[in-house]
Amino acid sequence: MGREVGVDEAIKILTDAQEAGLVTQPATAQNPGGICNCCGDCCVVLQALNQHPRPAEMVFSNYSVAVDPASCSGCETCLDRCQMAAITMNGEGRAEIELVRCIGCGLCVTTCPTESLRLVAKSEEQRRTPPPDSRGQMDLIRQLRGRP
Ligand code: SF4
Ligand code: SF4
Repeated sequence: MGREVGVDEAIKILTDAQEAGLVTQPATAQNPGGICNCCGDCCVVLQALNQHPRPAEMVFSNYSVAVDPASCSGCETCLDRCQMAAITMNGEGRAEIELVRCIGCGLCVTTCPTESLRLVAKSEEQRRTPPPDSRGQMDLIRQLRGRP
């Protein structure tokens, strides 16, 4: 179950989660009521996303990852870090990103030994603004389901 934590503990949890390779998933709100850190082995949200052909369209993420092929050493560390199978190695042994699969979690960025990966903001047309709070999130879900 969730519990309330202070800022220092929250940063420690997020740092530990990042090191463990867990995807940080805040509730879809500018002021989220909670944050999950999950792996694809047990999280049904990540499992469902992974089965979708275009996971990037299913999440409120305004970032995606970009690779600098010139500095990529081809070590393949990022392949294991990505839970969306968004990274492949091309014929030249360099990482390539399938943007429709990238949910902008940043897990590949923090472990790339050559710093060849970085998160970049999506174009203005692609960016979306989450609802202000969890109440707004529930209202949005209701609207998308066509409920009055
Ligand atoms: S972790 Fe970095 S250097 Fe290694 S394959 Fe991925 S992008 Fe290239
Ligand atoms: S940011 Fe990196 S690890 Fe996360 S989904 Fe995109 S390619 Fe995969």
